[in-house]
Amino acid sequence: MSTLHVIGDPVVHSKSPIIHGAMLAELGVDVRYTAHPVPRGGLEDYLVWAEGQDVIGFNATMPHKEDLLPLLDELDGDAAMYGAVNTVCLQGGRRIGHNTDGQGCLAALEEGEMWPAEQVVVLGAGGAARAVALKLAREGARRVWVCNRTLPRAAELCAQNSAGALTPAGFDVETLAKLCGQAQLLVNCTNLGMEGCPRDFDDLSFLDALPTGAGVFDLIYHPAQTSLLVEARRRGLNTLGGLSMLINQAILALEFFLDCPLDRVRMAQVAGQALKRALD
Ligand code: NAP
Repeated sequence: MSTLHVIGDPVVHSKSPIIHGAMLAELGVDVRYTAHPVPRGGLEDYLVWAEGQDVIGFNATMPHKEDLLPLLDELDGDAAMYGAVNTVCLQGGRRIGHNTDGQGCLAALEEGEMWPAEQVVVLGAGGAARAVALKLAREGARRVWVCNRTLPRAAELCAQNSAGALTPAGFDVETLAKLCGQAQLLVNCTNLGMEGCPRDFDDLSFLDALPTGAGVFDLIYHPAQTSLLVEARRRGLNTLGGLSMLINQAILALEFFLDCPLDRVRMAQVAGQALKRALD
């Protein structure tokens, strides 16, 4: 039996074994998917060990997404653009790195009928924000404001887009309101409101500035209803939670691992049902 892993530290709370387990069971393939703790600094040992076993690939989470880069033979376009990897296929002695963050975000936005959007406000400048902002700019957003508490981090992210579509901005309510007034889409890529994060948004009045019909996408999937989404919906805005992105990413990863296209609608159904049971 072949094996897939999700590696990280910590990794025990990862939802990937639930999602992938459900999809693999539906497909009836002889592959198992498990969480495998790998501490920072342990990647080289893990890779050598995995290549000697029946491991055909793995997903990577904190703290490995960037440290993996020099250890791989090949990177896809998105992984190279973000400088981070979250999916690795071990095929014929080669280590091939992918990153599903941006494509998973785009698929979720399309499902939520929030894409295309010309002007976008992205909250946050961490790893998820980097993938989202760079992907949306690459896919045609004319202007993406990257609003972050730590402004130099936003500036550093924006400098990675040579086309000049990304603009760094602050995270104060006045700035957010001014930019929301010009945007069709707001994407939260911060931890604010996430289960286990001690902080939430202090002031969501900037949502008032979004025009009628604008979309609000919160990458957070636990809880399913964040205060950002509740307040956006109360204002009549279109809303979308992070579950769809999480599931779309898993489907994309499984297509890479199995090297074949999947019935994405069916896979999303079985993964969604399994996750709902686990999170409820
Ligand atoms: P990260 O690299 O640690 O970045 C966290 C971001 O949140 C930074 O921009 C940080 O700002 C900001 N932040 C944290 N605390 C804050 C506070 N009190 N006030 C204002 N800003 C604050 O994390 P990440 O990997 O990008 O993940 C971000 C979120 O996206 C997480 O909730 C994660 O679960 C979610 N996510 C979801 C999916 C999905 O598939 N649905 C995929 C990836 C990530 P500073 O730079 O100022 O510290």
